[in-house]
Amino acid sequence: MKSVTVITHPLVQHNLTRLRDKRTRPQEFRRVLSEIAALMLYEATRSFAVRRASVQTPLAPARGFTLSREVVLVPVLRAGLGMLDSILQLLPGARVGFIGLKREETTLRAQFYHKSLPKDLQRFEVILIDPMLATGGSAVAAMDLLAELGARRVRLVNLVAAPEGIKHVRQHYPALPIFTAAIDRKLNGRGYIMPGLGDAGDRLFGV
Ligand code: URA
Repeated sequence: MKSVTVITHPLVQHNLTRLRDKRTRPQEFRRVLSEIAALMLYEATRSFAVRRASVQTPLAPARGFTLSREVVLVPVLRAGLGMLDSILQLLPGARVGFIGLKREETTLRAQFYHKSLPKDLQRFEVILIDPMLATGGSAVAAMDLLAELGARRVRLVNLVAAPEGIKHVRQHYPALPIFTAAIDRKLNGRGYIMPGLGDAGDRLFGV
């Protein structure tokens, strides 16, 4: 699918399988989700713009690169929190915004319960972190908000995506780059990804 990158790296796939396993308890789930997030970040940031920079090593001048733009990480609560810390360790200068969205149980529509984001998003690289791309409702609502705040360079990082969610996001944001570790079969009647890994927030926090 256009603009969807499935990260097939063996370490990503190995960790994804551990996350899918229902025997994986919250403590291990948190650790593995954090590890996989760091691995996925490499792929998601591969096309970040850089500019030339020169530094002085202890021995001689050396040419190198620095990132052209600052980064804003936007985890979608709750499950996005599970991918935040390890990404922040790799991008320690990044700012962090939060979007709280819950699914209205009967319609499965996304509703905001929290928003805190920098206002001037046009100058940033934005990484929207939402582990489960199910119906795509949350991702589209989050993207609408980011677009309203001027975001122009957004990447969406999911752990598992449903074809229905990808299609929905594509309809609204055809050029948005999506990075995922898997595109699963389908959604079930309750909007869960099949086979998926269950409710990512519940598994993360043991609720
Ligand atoms: N959210 C989850 O945590 N899991 C799903 O399967 C779908 C949405």
